[in-house]
Amino acid sequence: MLVTNKKIAIIGGGPGGLTLARLLQQQGAEVTVYERDSTRDARQQGATLDLHEESGLRALSAAGLLNAFRAHYRPGADKIRLLDGQATIVYDQHQQPDALTFGDAHFRPEIDRGPLRDLLIDSLAPGTIVWNSQLQELTPTPNGWQLYFADGCTNHVHLVIGADGANSQVRPLVTSLRPFFTGYTVVEGNVYDAARHAPGLWKLTKSGKLFALGGEKSIIVSAKGDGSLSFYTCQRTTENWVQASGIDFQSPPQVAAWFARDFAAWSPLWRELFATNHAYYVPRPQYCMPLDQDWPAQPTLTLLGDAAHLMPPYAGEGVNMAMLDALELSHCLTNGQFPTLLAAISHYETAMRRRGSEVAAISIESMEEIHSPNGLAWMRQVME
Ligand SMILES: Cc1cc2nc3c(=O)[nH]c(=O)nc-3n(C[C@H](O)[C@H](O)[C@H](O)COP(=O)(O)OP(=O)(O)OC[C@H]3O[C@@H](n4cnc5c(N)ncnc54)[C@H](O)[C@@H]3O)c2cc1C
Repeated sequence: MLVTNKKIAIIGGGPGGLTLARLLQQQGAEVTVYERDSTRDARQQGATLDLHEESGLRALSAAGLLNAFRAHYRPGADKIRLLDGQATIVYDQHQQPDALTFGDAHFRPEIDRGPLRDLLIDSLAPGTIVWNSQLQELTPTPNGWQLYFADGCTNHVHLVIGADGANSQVRPLVTSLRPFFTGYTVVEGNVYDAARHAPGLWKLTKSGKLFALGGEKSIIVSAKGDGSLSFYTCQRTTENWVQASGIDFQSPPQVAAWFARDFAAWSPLWRELFATNHAYYVPRPQYCMPLDQDWPAQPTLTLLGDAAHLMPPYAGEGVNMAMLDALELSHCLTNGQFPTLLAAISHYETAMRRRGSEVAAISIESMEEIHSPNGLAWMRQVME
């Protein structure tokens, strides 16, 4: 096996990095995940997400974790209500029969991000994840890489996989290409104990999702298993809107004032998302890696997930792609079909880039359609 007696460092313990660690560990590889979060509970994990049969679920199945997934997924959480800005329901999947199940190509079961992360972490050998390890720099050595972390620790490894997400520290060592700004900014948020703090919207979700579109803006709301509502708004902005707006996103009243202004034409019901201190808000300008990116493969360094092909979330594929990357990379490194690490990584990267570009193109197109004057009609036709 190409990775026998090799120390492998995965930078980043998101869904992509953790899935890869599990898959490689199953093959007996010596793998460590370096994660910048101080502990596994350091950060509130984001929204609920749907895993797809051909990617996320396939990776979990190969990792022997499908039963763990079945124990934690949320039946019915995939049901969407499509609404206009006045909160009028124009299409309701709760009215549709439950026809699909595991094994159906179009079945997209939902799981909250926290439980997904937990089940991946719990599948790893103790000590695999080194928490509080923010990679700051990596320098090449004759047989690998020297890693330097923010806490002063340093380590030598033979193979590095950058799974460190949107603002990857590893990416610049692989490609000089940078993500481009798509013209849109998302404001992501979470309202805790939503039955109390956002009761109207909590009821409206019916434990599923709301897609609200109007006036070239959108809000996507998901009910989570812990009783919170996670959501993200989106609208067209300039690249520096977050700084230029002067809004302190740590201050709920300031965020509420922005929302009331920019979504003034929308029903007051949506303001529930901003009317409480039991919430957090994070602005996220939307970037995307170039769709035609290419780079020469290296024998001891590669990328997966958002580090490789960051894209806006409008194809619902980011986590699924990161997990499929992990599956395909683990195959290439362990299936005995490649004579060298360089050949294995080159094969993986060629397919990964092509797949990432195709999905990113769909995501950009969906984002444009959703925020077009006919966004609601477009979305309805996609869902019907
Ligand atoms: C608002 C929003 C909604 C989304 N909705 C969906 C959806 O419904 N479905 C879907 O499939 N995708 C969705 N996505 C996309 C999805 O979140 C990402 O594509 C996915 O998380 C990428 O996984 P990853 O493992 O590559 O990276 P990440 O999940 O970003 O994980 C990277 C990890 O690396 C760590 N890290 C970062 N830098 C360092 C460093 N220097 N040193 C050590 N560790 C580091 C981070 O702490 C993190 O744990 C959404 C994204 C957003 C912003």
